[in-house]
Amino acid sequence: MKNVFVNLAERYIYNEKPAILPLVVIITGMIIGVCFLVYYTGGIKYVYSHSMYIPIIVSSLFFGIKGGVIAGLAGGLVLGPYMPIDVITGEMQQTINWIYRAGFFTLIGIITGTSMDSLRNRIREINWLMHNNRYTELPNEESLNQALERLARDDQVKCPYYLLSIGSSNISSVKNTFGFSVVHVVIQQMNQRLNECILFNHGIFNHSDEKMAVILGDPGESEIDEHLNRIVHALELPYEYENIPIHMDMHIGCVAITDRSLSNYTVGRQAETALNHAIDNKLSYCIYRPEEDKTSRENVGLLGSLRNAIDTDQLVLYYQPKVDIHSRKLLGVEALVRWQHPTRGMIPPVRFIPQAEQTNLINPLTMWVLEKALSRISMWDQQQFMPAVAVNISTRNINVPGFEDAVFRLLDEYHIVPERLELEVTESALMQDPVNAIRLLTELAESNIIISIDDFGTGYSSLEYLCKLPASIVKIDQYFIRNLVNDSAVRNIIKSATDLAHSLNMTVVAEGVEDEAVLDFLVDIGCDIVQGYHISRPIPEDELLTFARAN
Ligand code: C2E
Ligand code: MG
Ligand code: MG
Repeated sequence: MKNVFVNLAERYIYNEKPAILPLVVIITGMIIGVCFLVYYTGGIKYVYSHSMYIPIIVSSLFFGIKGGVIAGLAGGLVLGPYMPIDVITGEMQQTINWIYRAGFFTLIGIITGTSMDSLRNRIREINWLMHNNRYTELPNEESLNQALERLARDDQVKCPYYLLSIGSSNISSVKNTFGFSVVHVVIQQMNQRLNECILFNHGIFNHSDEKMAVILGDPGESEIDEHLNRIVHALELPYEYENIPIHMDMHIGCVAITDRSLSNYTVGRQAETALNHAIDNKLSYCIYRPEEDKTSRENVGLLGSLRNAIDTDQLVLYYQPKVDIHSRKLLGVEALVRWQHPTRGMIPPVRFIPQAEQTNLINPLTMWVLEKALSRISMWDQQQFMPAVAVNISTRNINVPGFEDAVFRLLDEYHIVPERLELEVTESALMQDPVNAIRLLTELAESNIIISIDDFGTGYSSLEYLCKLPASIVKIDQYFIRNLVNDSAVRNIIKSATDLAHSLNMTVVAEGVEDEAVLDFLVDIGCDIVQGYHISRPIPEDELLTFARAN
């Protein structure tokens, strides 16, 4: 019974055009009922005419202002000119009486009808907002959940079907440049492209502020990878905002739904895990695998205990030598952190640094590395072992007010000349806020700290900023070095980057040198310093001293 009422209420609220038949039935019933009452009771003076409000209110409830007005007028007329005051005497009503009554009934119909119409509109609006994003006007998370539930119940839908979560890794910088409204414009354009390039979708959703989700039907014979590639390709074409073309780095997390009993929450989280994995590893798309979930949970757990690891000295520094390309003389070392975990053993930095860089934890971590490195320099000085030590710096470190003062204070504390400290900042970190980076690094460089651009070639730096950067070293990213043997285009890039750096009076370091053939090429093109497994892996302090003695 309850369901019948709920259904009736829903039909009443959402039906744009209620059927006219019920209104005709109500009004006809009203006329017959009134005639019967008047003649049965003996005349209009015996009938309680206010009972006419009941059909008027019912009509306006169901048919809004139109229903209210029609029922009001009809009621007024039915109780009007042809209804005798007294059936037996045949005395009729005065015209003014029934006109007044008809007017009053109509007014009641107008008032209740208008109220119902505006209530109904409000409910429709709230319902729309519950299911759609108000800015992009696309179905939202609630709609996504409902669609997933519907599909899980529908045996006609073949498994697997796929949930895709689509996000961009550079959306923050685009938003910072153009303002929040750019996100809505991009999402709408994405929606258009998704609609054009996906043939079997069960819905496209804008399920969170900056992300889209798609439920992809079973692609049949063709491979899911083929579909994902096509979607990524469509999404990576430039977007247009106020006549400016905008490039978005798009990533897709995909999960195959084979088990209909999984909750929406689980499936959604799996798609998010896959998306995060794609973003972290710079992949166009990633299909969810439970192992990744485990790794990402472990990494979140790791991040939670990192603060304690810093405070209790669980971190250790390894050092990777950098040598002169001709003489192989040791010129410096790069300090690379590792986590000596009490139960999980040695954890490499890729497992916790990228996560720490997303939080403020990277600040105490960098301070720990700096302090440790400087304390080592001061110890090595006493042993006449004097390489420069490079420490990696992250974007957040650059943005912390007073970072430079903290560095100067540590140099003072350990009595280290600034020339012994090198700070490596990745090209992409520099380009996030180049103006601030240039200001800070200039101050550090003016005090003779060596500044180097790490992972050069991966961060789209503009020549304008490159000229202004106070860096004296460029470290060409390992990707290029590792691929130079098989790829002539890569060789050309390395050659041009080396020439460019030299023309700006910078020293060129090649990282990731793994064999003699690569070394020979680097000698030919005039690279200055090499670092890589071919020279030495990152090694603990005691091994470094042995390496230095042999060198
Ligand atoms: P990076 O600064 O580019 O460091 C070089 C990475 O390349 C090191 O990995 C090093 O072990 C590896 N590598 C060096 N030569 C070779 C080679 O010939 N072949 C191959 N395949 N790899 C080579 P690692 O130690 O795992 O560090 C990875 C990244 O983690 C570093 O990249 C750096 O971005 C970050 N990192 C490490 N320590 C710190 C730190 O103390 N602070 C910050 N902010 N980041 C750090
Ligand atoms: Mg580095
Ligand atoms: Mg590097």
